[in-house]
Amino acid sequence: MTALVPERRIVIRGVFKWSGLALGLVMLVAWGISVRWRIFGVLTNGLFVLGDGAISFDWTPQTGNTGWVIQSANGSYGLEWPTLMDTGAGLFLSLPFWIPVAITGLISVFLWLTERRTIVATHCGNCCYDLCTNVSGVCPECGTPISVEQKRAIVRAMNT
Ligand SMILES: [Zn+2]
Repeated sequence: MTALVPERRIVIRGVFKWSGLALGLVMLVAWGISVRWRIFGVLTNGLFVLGDGAISFDWTPQTGNTGWVIQSANGSYGLEWPTLMDTGAGLFLSLPFWIPVAITGLISVFLWLTERRTIVATHCGNCCYDLCTNVSGVCPECGTPISVEQKRAIVRAMNT
């Protein structure tokens, strides 16, 4: 495996950060919709339901009319574990929205927090000047000495 150049890593990190946040927001909106409404998709090969705080699919072939139906839901947030079971006629899978929202939320928080730490560590503690290309040991802007710990963080940031 070849090492990624720094710019590329930052770009990939940014893509993950923003797409994670966007996916989390989409899930949050879908969760909100599912608390208020139940959207049924009656399909020939199964029944899709977005409602009661979860998204589910029942692989039981549907007979009769296919189409989409919207009802009002009972306001459940679906704070349950996912379900996967064999109904006899087919598989039933239910994924409550809190799980993808929590996962994308945690990943986003982790990426934002670790990024902020890198920015703080590679900037002068006195004047916030970016020390990323600095090897002299003092801040060129205000003359504050750069600590060994901070120097290590700067080297790390330059190499990642
Ligand atoms: Zn400074």
